[in-house]
Amino acid sequence: MSAVAEGGLTLQPTPLPFDLAGFEVLIGPERTARLHTAAAALRESLGGGTLWHVNSTGAGGGVAEMLHTLLPLYRRLGMRARWAVVGGDTGFFTLAKRLGLALYGSTGDGGQLGPTERDAYLAALGGPGERLASLVRPGDVVLLHDHQTAGLVPRLARRGVRVYWRCHVGVDRPTEVSDRAWNLLAPLLDGAHGTLFSVPWHIPDRLRNGRAAVLAPFIAPFSAKNRPLDQATVRRALVRCGLRPDDGTPAGPNGGGPPVQVTGEAPPDPEEPLIAQVSRWDRLKDMHGVLAAVTDHVPDGHLALVGPDPLGVPDDTEQALWFERCRTAWLRLPPAQRRRVTLVCLPMDDLVDNALLVNSIQRASTVVLQKSLAEGFGLTVTEAMWKARTVVAAGVGGIRAQVTHGRTGLLVDDPHDLPGFAELVISALHGGMDIDTLGERARQRVRADFLPDTEIHTMARLLTGGVHE
Ligand code: UDP
Repeated sequence: MSAVAEGGLTLQPTPLPFDLAGFEVLIGPERTARLHTAAAALRESLGGGTLWHVNSTGAGGGVAEMLHTLLPLYRRLGMRARWAVVGGDTGFFTLAKRLGLALYGSTGDGGQLGPTERDAYLAALGGPGERLASLVRPGDVVLLHDHQTAGLVPRLARRGVRVYWRCHVGVDRPTEVSDRAWNLLAPLLDGAHGTLFSVPWHIPDRLRNGRAAVLAPFIAPFSAKNRPLDQATVRRALVRCGLRPDDGTPAGPNGGGPPVQVTGEAPPDPEEPLIAQVSRWDRLKDMHGVLAAVTDHVPDGHLALVGPDPLGVPDDTEQALWFERCRTAWLRLPPAQRRRVTLVCLPMDDLVDNALLVNSIQRASTVVLQKSLAEGFGLTVTEAMWKARTVVAAGVGGIRAQVTHGRTGLLVDDPHDLPGFAELVISALHGGMDIDTLGERARQRVRADFLPDTEIHTMARLLTGGVHE
């Protein structure tokens, strides 16, 4: 089934099935029994109604990543579930991007977020809202994801369905800018049955109203992004991404695939340790800060900055700008430093192919970085921890909820502290620490707390009455 776009709303086709049997083996019998108890409670609470998830992109970023797993999981557990994607023009997504960055405390493009912008935002959601309201039935539950969809709450609440709003972003300490974003958003959420946040410290005071709950994101252990890969697959993927010299092996983990846009050269020494950050090209992911930290302060290792094709994430209007800034900074490097860095833009046409490339790069990396200036949760960190990699990251947002410094990864407190960050990278490469134990602890942390059954438990408790902060 292909996606159907109508009235500014696209109904996503059914993603790949969820391997429940494999998942049950992974989590063991006790946890499996708890999962099925929660699923039964959830089914009863839905009473045959549909659980809708609504976001603003089918691919690119953490929310889409999770929905590709959640929809099949809900269905596999006997529930009706549907995924709808809100569309919009550049004006809408530019405004939504500004709002999202403001929720992180960033001024973004410097534009306003006043009544005019609120009205434009709500007007843009009119078409998708109307279509969604015509599709939902009383008894359905709708989960709206992030600021792009918050404006749908009033309309859906009037339709008599249970509406929850899930926020995947946030600021560690409120600022004037984040307050401005909440001034626009919070009144729209009045009709919501509840709100969900990835970490408790992202709940703004004004939403601590007895209806806010915490739900950490998860990774799908058997997906193309996270499943174990054989060395030949990883090697072919690295060649395709320009991170290992081409030795004539057939290109691509799928025996081919769309071209990868590579800026830079493969390290001549195949043993050179790989240091990678995989992120959208976004000011807050600070790829250019990573470039500076590594080239100025880390004497060895090959840096891979990996992101999606800048034109491949329709709801993110700033990708091309931030990729270009990185490329310009790379061009200005002295040749010896430039040779140590490769910029990789992954095609987004085939999501399984894209996921296998990310998986391969994460697995091949000695150190996985995530030096975000602010972060909602940071699934790239979870993915690297699951692969037992050494994570060196900034201790911001949800990264702090995942990584315990010195136990499951290494954290720099201030993401602007480039020498401090680089020092951690150097010690991860050469510090004589037991990185195998660190990596194994990281994997166990993910196994315990960031797999998809957490979602079923929290949703069951939410719909049956009581997980609020
Ligand atoms: N990602 C991807 N291809 C890319 C870059 C990122 O599949 O080229 C994925 C990445 O593996 C992760 C998600 O996008 O699953 C990013 O989620 P995260 O929570 O780290 O950040 P967000 O983009 O949602 O802010």
